[in-house]
Amino acid sequence: AKQNGRNRYCFFTAEIEALAVRRMQVVSALRHALEQHQLTIHYQPQFSARDGRIIGAEALLRWHHPSLGQVSPEEFIPAAEDSGLIVPIGEWVLRHAVRQMRAWLDEGMTPFVLAVNLSTVQFRHPNLPAMVAAILAEEQLPAQYLELELTESGAMHDPPAAIAVMDQLHEHGVRMAIDDFGIAYSSLSYLKKFKVYKLKIDQSFVRDISADPEDRAIVTAIIAMARGLGLRTIAEGVETQAQLDFLREHGCDEIQGYYYSKPLTAEQFGRFVQEVEPC
Ligand code: C2E
Ligand code: CA
Ligand code: CA
Ligand code: CA
Repeated sequence: AKQNGRNRYCFFTAEIEALAVRRMQVVSALRHALEQHQLTIHYQPQFSARDGRIIGAEALLRWHHPSLGQVSPEEFIPAAEDSGLIVPIGEWVLRHAVRQMRAWLDEGMTPFVLAVNLSTVQFRHPNLPAMVAAILAEEQLPAQYLELELTESGAMHDPPAAIAVMDQLHEHGVRMAIDDFGIAYSSLSYLKKFKVYKLKIDQSFVRDISADPEDRAIVTAIIAMARGLGLRTIAEGVETQAQLDFLREHGCDEIQGYYYSKPLTAEQFGRFVQEVEPC
């Protein structure tokens, strides 16, 4: 048994070392990702639960590296946050998504809201509200078309600071949504003070909604609470008709997920919109 324990110890050490090496490779490759045009943005449509119309799109970053291949954002976003690279990368995402949105509106696409993810690291950066305002001005996109998603844990990390930043963004006319809502034990009294427009119900609750009575109870409670606070709700990770039916019945406002569409390239998104809403 002792021998076995030691082997296991060696195994874990090797595994941790491999992870550390991989993280270093990812960070050093990521340093060149922007200038070498390896980053792209995909757009996942968001639908009105009531009538199935497209009312939004979430911008999701994609990275293809020549030797590492396609790297998941679940891996490279945390690496970008640790290394500080998320600040220039996040700014790039915002600028390019906003520019794409402007182009779509210019093409005559029916207006919808563009949702862009904000890292907690970006959110804590003192220049954030000014940076957002500058990009909207430079790209000539009215603020009403932009929504910024911040995770619940990001907002709850330092609530008084979050309130101040949200107030500034609100003054610029930008909407905020709380992402991955329901997993970080929000202090509900803060929810009242946050200038937020929408709660995005975490997909972990949506996944088992058909089978798990506790998840059903949580989702029902989040929707009812949001209603009471005058907030909209969106469910993400919706993959099945049963999930959609439950969410609709319980008054969830918006739906995002593979049931309707995976994240699409800008070109695919343009075609998708035309198919759904022929003019
Ligand atoms: P998130 O913001 O919670 O985004 C939702 C994730 O769920 C996306 O994964 C999306 O592709 C995936 N998804 C959408 N519909 C379904 C579905 O029906 N079923 C399942 N199983 N998954 C679905 P993705 O694109 O891999 O992004 C992962 C995470 O990486 C995001 O989670 C977000 O936290 C982060 N991320 C992605 N792009 C950006 C970005 O531009 N900036 C920042 N800061 N974070 C980003
Ligand atoms: Ca998100
Ligand atoms: Ca989410
Ligand atoms: Ca998530």
